[in-house]
Amino acid sequence: MARLVMKFGGTSVADIDRIRNVARHVKREVDAGFAVAVVVSAMSGKTNELVAWTRAAAPMHDAREYDTVVASGEQVTSGLLAIALQEIGVNARSWQGWQIPILTDGAHGAARIMEIDGSRLIERMAQGQVAVIAGFQGLAPDNRIATLGRGGSDTSAVAIAAAIGAVRCDIYTDVDGVYTTDPRIVPKARRLDRVSHEEMLEMASLGAKVLQVRSVELAMVHGVRTFVRSSFDDPADPRLADAENPPGTLICDEDEIVEKQVVTGIAYSKDEAQISLREVADKPGVAAAVFVPLAEANINVDMIVQNVSEDGTTTDMTFTVPTSELERAMKVLEGARSSIGYSSLQGSGDLVKVSVIGIGMRSHAGVAASAFRALAGKSINIRAITTSEIKISILIDSAYTELAVRTLHSLYGLDAA
Ligand code: ADP
Ligand code: ASP
Ligand code: MG
Repeated sequence: MARLVMKFGGTSVADIDRIRNVARHVKREVDAGFAVAVVVSAMSGKTNELVAWTRAAAPMHDAREYDTVVASGEQVTSGLLAIALQEIGVNARSWQGWQIPILTDGAHGAARIMEIDGSRLIERMAQGQVAVIAGFQGLAPDNRIATLGRGGSDTSAVAIAAAIGAVRCDIYTDVDGVYTTDPRIVPKARRLDRVSHEEMLEMASLGAKVLQVRSVELAMVHGVRTFVRSSFDDPADPRLADAENPPGTLICDEDEIVEKQVVTGIAYSKDEAQISLREVADKPGVAAAVFVPLAEANINVDMIVQNVSEDGTTTDMTFTVPTSELERAMKVLEGARSSIGYSSLQGSGDLVKVSVIGIGMRSHAGVAASAFRALAGKSINIRAITTSEIKISILIDSAYTELAVRTLHSLYGLDAA
């Protein structure tokens, strides 16, 4: 019997009616002859609420207890969906991460899956029982619950699909696939039939939260066929029954994409804060004096720009860090002031990183130049730029997010007709 993984995100299980609807989707696949494992997220908003409670209890708290609290949302939905399935005559039981077990490393709050023993799941599924698995959680080496970082249920789903040798991993969400950009801010965004792993990795790490980055990595490494599709479709719609090509977006290898576009998508991330150090001495060793202490404090630096100051002997250094790390980074740099030697330090959180992504950029020159021209035409000031083989990222003031994303979306011919 072919095995199938179906993952349902927070909005798909937001209330009991939606959970009943999910149960009907699951029943459709069971009736079609699949042995099904379902992975569920917490009800939408629940994880945010749980996270806020841990912060309210103590701003700095024990990450193991954070995990105990935030993993509970998924426990609730796994049980509720098992009940809803039993109610419509489908044999089902819930599984928590530790029961399978899904073993993770010890990085509580942002753990990585190390190993999944799929044998017990496979055995039960072969007996015709649907496994309803709490996403986002596993068991750490200290024998305690660990969570996989926000959006981690996607990763649970792909990892389970790999562990049980599923023919497909369907990620059901509140949009019917991966779009050229976030359809919530660009109504003209187009659904993509296929996206390569490389592009999806970039899109996810540059802000498109439709899939967690780690899930895309796992899908690529383990060759898991991953589809992004909508849970809001009517489960009885006959078009959903196409086992080979369900409606949605397939995340696949590059060579499975016939029509390669120069630009495939635009992503944006508000998770970027800028730090500027003014009048730093222009001499060897200064960059190390700035970035080594940040690295030692485990703060990731992303974009870096250096300009020579007017007097020619000093430079201004500007770089970005995750917004959540801004305060800590500023403290580290204040502490290192005497070894760096700068005249002033400024931090700003009101920025956004907009990225243009496409494997076609490898063989096309001028993609960046046309983006800069188009943004200049809208009077949008670019504060920093980074590029790689298949992406260009620019840092701008957040007030211009929508204008910039829409401008670039039209520029590269991505608008829906
Ligand atoms: P779930 O709760 O199902 O995991 P998420 O909220 O994590 O869902 O991800 C789905 C959301 O991702 C969509 O509602 C959409 O706003 C957002 N999104 C951002 N970029 C894209 C994109 N390029 N294509 C599709 N959705 C996107
Ligand atoms: N419930 C978790 C979160 O909100 C995991 C997920 O939804 O994927 O981050
Ligand atoms: Mg998600």
